Amino acid sequence: MAEQQVCHLIWFRNDLRITDNKALSSACVNPQAKVIAIFTATPQQWLAHGVSSRQITFLHQNLVELQQALAQLGIPLICQTMPDFTGAAQWVLDYAKEQHADALFFNRQYELNEKQRDDWLVKQSHSLHIHAFDDALLLPPSTVNNQKGEMYQVYTPFRRAFITQLTATDCRSLTAPEKRGKPLAIECTQPLFAHVATDISPQFKAGEQAARHQLRQFCRERVQNYQRDRDIPSIDGTSQLSPYLAVGVLSPRQCFNRLQAENPQLLDYPDSGAFTWLNELIWREFYTHLLVAFPRLCRYQPFIQWTQHIQWNHSPDDFDAWKNGQTGYPIVDAAMRQLNETGWMHNRLRMIVASFLVKDLLIDWRKGEQYFMSQLIDGTLAANNGGWQWSASTGVDASPWFRIFNPTTQGQKFDPQGTFIRHWLPELKNVPDKYIHAPHEWAAANHIQLNYPIPMVDHKQARLNTLEAFEAGKRNS
Ligand code: FAD
Repeated sequence: MAEQQVCHLIWFRNDLRITDNKALSSACVNPQAKVIAIFTATPQQWLAHGVSSRQITFLHQNLVELQQALAQLGIPLICQTMPDFTGAAQWVLDYAKEQHADALFFNRQYELNEKQRDDWLVKQSHSLHIHAFDDALLLPPSTVNNQKGEMYQVYTPFRRAFITQLTATDCRSLTAPEKRGKPLAIECTQPLFAHVATDISPQFKAGEQAARHQLRQFCRERVQNYQRDRDIPSIDGTSQLSPYLAVGVLSPRQCFNRLQAENPQLLDYPDSGAFTWLNELIWREFYTHLLVAFPRLCRYQPFIQWTQHIQWNHSPDDFDAWKNGQTGYPIVDAAMRQLNETGWMHNRLRMIVASFLVKDLLIDWRKGEQYFMSQLIDGTLAANNGGWQWSASTGVDASPWFRIFNPTTQGQKFDPQGTFIRHWLPELKNVPDKYIHAPHEWAAANHIQLNYPIPMVDHKQARLNTLEAFEAGKRNS
């Protein structure tokens, strides 16, 4: 009797690439095995959890690219739509049985719901061998600890320990697996899963090649000036790779290796642009390690517990003005319009608008976090939660809560001529540079009617109110 061919399933998640993918490469080690790729789409659940339709569209585009790339290797991709995670995990087990698969390969996800899904699946897997990999980070969660063996709660010592460990770790990227047979013909007449297709900015072209090309270009041409340019939103000074990292079209190892290839002495020059960029990749790691060490963060609880007692402002009108870029503070409004139109926002601006929502309007950071998620093409729980809690001073390594950004001076410092502001707020295009951050002063002096709102709060007064609200929250805890 002919022996049945071994069958390996590779379950893709937020790792939509064939190069440097640990689970895929392992599934392909045995040249005799039949390999089938699967993807479970849960668009209803994603939307219910606030994921933006832009990100879902981007994910779909990249899944189509992945299907093509896998087909060239002779590996079919089966995409199954399910209402939720539990259903998805059950479908994977059923499908494995149907295919007589003996092993399931996947890369771990670190958010609480995803971890619980995988724990459940492992318990139910019986004779199906599970091969799970840490692939989404340079160093896996729970491996960079302080002397007590605990997760750092402050970034700088974490980074120091992280770099020491990184230099002792083999971070080489894996190449794509070898072809396993003739390329498969793919008919792409239907979407792989039903979703509301949303226009996304043409700057984010789907696919591994596009992502790697952007990485190469950035590391060759722009990273040297990263330290100088990274805070200026009118300059393309940052990599804009976050959407690719979010859905795993690019791996952090690929980023690190490319950076090192272009800058072999990278770790010896902490003031260089290259090191500064590495530092940002390490922030990404830090926030993900934190999610695992403190799962309550996945449930939107503040890291600093007493901040739960702050009395927030619940005004829907204030929140709408912020969302719609109608606060009367040009740098805030221009940034929000960039977000609403493209699904991406410059890091400096994310900090400014987050600070404005929490510290000028006294609105709960969780509302901002959710709104960001509903718009961002690069939304990830770890970085978004980390960024919001940092800005709201409710998180780890928080700047003291009484340090509050002034939105006008932030604008003057990081967009001095108003180049960015004028791009997104054409109604201010004729305002002279000197007044671009306070256009109503110019309009009043010149008896001009501006089609732009007056500042919705007086920053000085708002600052005092916030200080009082934080102090009261602390007292009442
Ligand atoms: P680069 O400057 O080129 O950095 C390279 C990569 O490092 C980024 O692509 C990203 O993966 C990572 N990175 C950079 N800065 C940070 C950071 N502060 N924290 C964590 N990772 C970082 N980033 C997201 O990827 N998704 C989010 O949902 C997200 N929400 C944020 C919310 C707030 C309130 C704040 C303040 C920051 C948030 N960030 C988020 C972090 C940061 O703003 C973006 O990663 C960055 O702007 C993406 O642009 P880039 O790819 O050009 O970054």
